[in-house]
Amino acid sequence: MKTGNVAQIIGETPLIKIESLSQLTGQNIFGKAEFLNPGGSIKDRTALGIILEAQEQGELKPGFTIVEGTAGNTGIGLSILAAQFGYKSLIVMPNNQSAEKYTILKALGAEVITVPPCPFADQNHFYHTARRISEERSDTFWANQFENLSNFRIHYKTTAKEIYEQLKGKVDAFVSSAGTGGSLAGISRYLKEKNPKTHIQLADPFGSGLHEYVKTGKFLSQGSSMTEGIGIMRLTANFKEALIDDSVQVSDQEMINMLYHLASHDGLLVGTSAALNVCAAAQFAKKQTTKGMNIVTILCDGAMRYQNKVFNPDFLKAQNISMTNPMTLTNS
Ligand code: PMP
Repeated sequence: MKTGNVAQIIGETPLIKIESLSQLTGQNIFGKAEFLNPGGSIKDRTALGIILEAQEQGELKPGFTIVEGTAGNTGIGLSILAAQFGYKSLIVMPNNQSAEKYTILKALGAEVITVPPCPFADQNHFYHTARRISEERSDTFWANQFENLSNFRIHYKTTAKEIYEQLKGKVDAFVSSAGTGGSLAGISRYLKEKNPKTHIQLADPFGSGLHEYVKTGKFLSQGSSMTEGIGIMRLTANFKEALIDDSVQVSDQEMINMLYHLASHDGLLVGTSAALNVCAAAQFAKKQTTKGMNIVTILCDGAMRYQNKVFNPDFLKAQNISMTNPMTLTNS
């Protein structure tokens, strides 16, 4: 068991065997329980990696404000660490993310600025807004999770190594979605270096261009998704480091079916990106002719972070999503 302050207990998360899906597919499907980090998501690791390297390089000094544009989880990770280390945090977010994230950030003492969601080319995008704010003030540090390779490195050094050691080096496949791409890049690179035969599968929501990019090299997208923190329409420095064999798209309806399946069959309350990841992992598992493979995915955060969306019949109905569909695994 870990003992220490908030920064010291990040990581070393359990690998949960998802029994219902393992039985259904004849494989061993594991989810890395990142929702157990102190800020409730995988992004606590990213925040820690970015802060430690910036401190070392003298870019982050006592009394500074950490500035970041984020879908929320990186902001929460940075803000728990800002509280722990004695910095301030200023978080820029699109205004359509789950209500819980804004409430948590405010409780952590962060200054929160919301902007309307818009394409990356628009200078009001949360990324550009965060950059501009940090350029205007000298006592700030811009975390820049999309382009800052501290993100990739922390996942390579910790998340990937933990997975490899937890399965004693037998990782047959790793399946994950990407937002910045830091976790997929760090984990895929480490696992491929250990064993080039490890299959790496991207899982992408509709509305993201990554699936098409992996398949054809072009950023094209169709549809949209209620998932948060994943999917992007540009190539980031972190995603460039990823080693990917194949990609699948998962719909919001499949994702919600899986979210409710995991809650009622496995006692697992996972967030939207995690449910999408598990969907892709289980579909991949079902398609394999070899049985008994170890297939790993990431449980990025928990369902309670989205309770006003995923447990809200009115919200789901407005998205044309049924909350009572059975979970089925397609062969596509
Ligand atoms: N799931 C959630 C809920 C997230 O907030 C993020 C981070 N944006 C991811 C998945 C994707 O992680 P990464 O940035 O490492 O690609």
